[in-house]
Amino acid sequence: MKAMVLHKIGSPLVLEDIPEPTPGNGEIKIKIHVCGICRTDLHVLDGELDHPTFPIIPGHQIVGTVVELGVGVTRFSLGERVGVPWLGGSCGTCYYCLKERENLCDLAEYTGFRKNGGFAEYTIARADFSFPLPSNYPDLQVAPLLCAGLIGYRALHMTEGAKQIGFYGFGAAAHILVQIINGKGGEVFAFTKEKDIQGQVFAKKMGARWAGGENDVSPIPLDAAILFAPVGSHVPKALKNVKKGGIVVCAGIHMSDIPQFPYSLLWEERVVRSVANLTRKDGEEFLKLASQHSIHTQVTSYPLEKTNLALRDLRNGIFKGAAAILFES
Ligand SMILES: [Zn+2]
Ligand SMILES: [Zn+2]
Repeated sequence: MKAMVLHKIGSPLVLEDIPEPTPGNGEIKIKIHVCGICRTDLHVLDGELDHPTFPIIPGHQIVGTVVELGVGVTRFSLGERVGVPWLGGSCGTCYYCLKERENLCDLAEYTGFRKNGGFAEYTIARADFSFPLPSNYPDLQVAPLLCAGLIGYRALHMTEGAKQIGFYGFGAAAHILVQIINGKGGEVFAFTKEKDIQGQVFAKKMGARWAGGENDVSPIPLDAAILFAPVGSHVPKALKNVKKGGIVVCAGIHMSDIPQFPYSLLWEERVVRSVANLTRKDGEEFLKLASQHSIHTQVTSYPLEKTNLALRDLRNGIFKGAAAILFES
């Protein structure tokens, strides 16, 4: 099969012909139709995450068809469409796994980071960590739901019912989450890079009530803010814009250092917290929600051989919304 392989940190992915993988016990073999790209892929490339496995096929928003069942798999049947997210497995027996907090498992197997992912024609995934996908989305449109959508959903959950929510950064996750928040009667205030007028226009087009620059003061005090941009200096800015008791959620897997800030910004029970990975429960809840609402995802597609370009375009903010690798059927 053709695959884009990462051999070491900082080098481009290499297009290779490698043997197709075989499913083990409890695993499924998937013919991939689409694999979304994600900012986490850039963190993998840049060596910003601990304990990577090399060589590795990145990519963790996999949409494909089951073509082979490993021993003991009853959750899926041949020919069924499935989705594979970032959390590809966990130990099932540790303190966190037993408390339904498998997103914090020390032995978690992350797709496209510690086990091969979706920038290839085929992959292997654990059946119990893969999801059936809502039928009301084509392959390309459903792919960004598997990480951008899911992480956004988990971050929203952490805002504890906030209605007026600031977004720092407006990429793939934000363009999905704004629709969910609007659907629940909330409002989004988008803080983009300074002078990113196109980004602000896009945020408003997707449903943000207000859009401005990342240094702007919010037009109203916010219940919460979600930081999608991996920029630690946004934390004190976001704290200034949330009201008493407000929650600032850092949604990225990696972030630059948070600068020192006066305690008065955190005072009055403001909270700063992170969001790590996802649980299977998040996936089930979010995909059910997505099946009931038609979430519009804007997805730019690239062929497999152009994966390096797709990642570069993500880094440089070339496309709006999400992007994905689209395989010829
Ligand atoms: Zn565990
Ligand atoms: Zn991701």
